[in-house]
Amino acid sequence: MTRESTLRFGAQTDEVTSLLRIVNLVRTGEAMTRPEIGRLTGLGRGVVTQRVDQAIEMGFLADGDYGPSSGGRAPRTLRFRSEQGRIIICAFGALHIRVGIASLDGDIIDDGHAHWDIASGPAATIDQAFAMLDEILLRHEDVPVWGVAVGIPGPVDFDSGRPVAPPIMPGWNGFDLRRRFEERFDAPVWVDNDVNLLAFSERARRGEDRLDLIFFKVGTGIGAGLLSQGRIHRGANGAAGDVGHVRVRESESPCRCGKVGCLEAEAGGWALVRDARQALDEGAGGALARERGSGDGLTPQEIAMAAINGDALAISLVQRSARLVGESIAALVNMFNPGVIVVGGAVSSAGEIYLAEVRQRVYELSLPLATRDLAIVRSHGDEKEPLRGGAEMVREQLFEATFPRWFAEGRPLIRDVMPAAS
Ligand SMILES: [Zn+2]
Repeated sequence: MTRESTLRFGAQTDEVTSLLRIVNLVRTGEAMTRPEIGRLTGLGRGVVTQRVDQAIEMGFLADGDYGPSSGGRAPRTLRFRSEQGRIIICAFGALHIRVGIASLDGDIIDDGHAHWDIASGPAATIDQAFAMLDEILLRHEDVPVWGVAVGIPGPVDFDSGRPVAPPIMPGWNGFDLRRRFEERFDAPVWVDNDVNLLAFSERARRGEDRLDLIFFKVGTGIGAGLLSQGRIHRGANGAAGDVGHVRVRESESPCRCGKVGCLEAEAGGWALVRDARQALDEGAGGALARERGSGDGLTPQEIAMAAINGDALAISLVQRSARLVGESIAALVNMFNPGVIVVGGAVSSAGEIYLAEVRQRVYELSLPLATRDLAIVRSHGDEKEPLRGGAEMVREQLFEATFPRWFAEGRPLIRDVMPAAS
C-alpha cells in the first residue's frame, strides 16, 4: 500500500465508513469471518471481500485459522492485529508516577513506577516520566505509538488536555500537557483525571457495555469517577466527581484546597494521618505509636493495616472516615442511581472494616429504590489499574471517536506499510 492509496480513503467516505466498521467488528469479536461481516453489515459478498482485503493490506487485520463449518467449506477467521500499534500510559499520582506501554488490545506489556512529589511542578515531573518511559521503550521492539494516556490527580479540561486549578498541583494550572506529550511521541494525547482512569479500568475488567458505576477513591485525597451507561461523565468543565471538596457537616478543618470543612479534610488519608498524630501526641498508645516511633512518620496504608490488625485507634479513625464517605456516597446514590459502587484507595484497604461502615450509612440514608440492586464492593487495588484504565480510555478515543479522522489523514501509522518519504 502506498501513500496515495492511503490518502485516497480520505476522499471516499462511504468506503472509509464501511472499512472502519469491518475493522471494529473484528476488533471487538462481533464478527470473525467474512460471511459474518456480510450478515452484520448487509454488504454484498464482493464488497466485503474487497474491504477486508484493503484492511489486511493496510495492516489492521490478518487472516487467522479456519472457523467451524456450517455445512460447506469452513470460512477463514480474521483477527485484529493488536501488536501493530502501541499505547503509552503515564499516570501521575500525588506522590508517585506510574508509566506503562500497552498493546491495542489494552494488555499492559511493561511498566515502571517511581516515588515522586507532583508538587515539584510540570517541567521536572514530565522529564522524570519521559526518562522512565525511555527506559521501558528501550527494552522493546520499536512499534508506532497510536495514542497516549496521561492521568493527573486533579480536574482536567478533557478537550484541551489542561489541568484546571488542581488543588494539590502547584504550577500545573492550565499547563499544556497534551502538547508536551504530543511533541515527544508524535501521537494523539488524551489527558484525564486519575479516578476516571480507575473507572475505565473497572469497565474494561467487567466488560459490560452500559455500566452505571461510581468509583470512589479514598486515598491521600478523595475523588470519584462516574460511568453513566458505560460513558465517563466529565461534566461541563471536567470537575465532575470532585467530591473530596464537598462540605461535611460541623467541620472546621482547613483543607488543601484553601477551603474549610471539606470531606477529604475529615476523611481523606492525609486527614487520618493528621488525626492519628494528634492522638499520639495526646498520649495514645498501641500499634500506631510503635509504627511512628520506628521512623518515617505515618502513612494512610499503615493506618489501614493497623486497623485490620485490631488497633483501637486505627479502627476508630478508619470507621469515622468510612461513615463520612458513606454519607457522601448516599447523596450520590440518590442523585445518580448507580448499579455498582467500587471503593478504592489506600484508606479503604482496611477492607471489610471500612466497607461494612460505608454500606450501613448508604443503606440508612439512601432511597430504597436506589439501593434495591446496588452492589458496594472493594476495588481490586492492583497497582496497574491506572495503566489499564489509561489504555482503555485511549482505545475508546482511537476506535470510537477519532479513528475516521486518522484514516483520512493517513494515520495511525502501521509498521509494515509505512510509506516511503515523499
Ligand atoms: Zn477542599
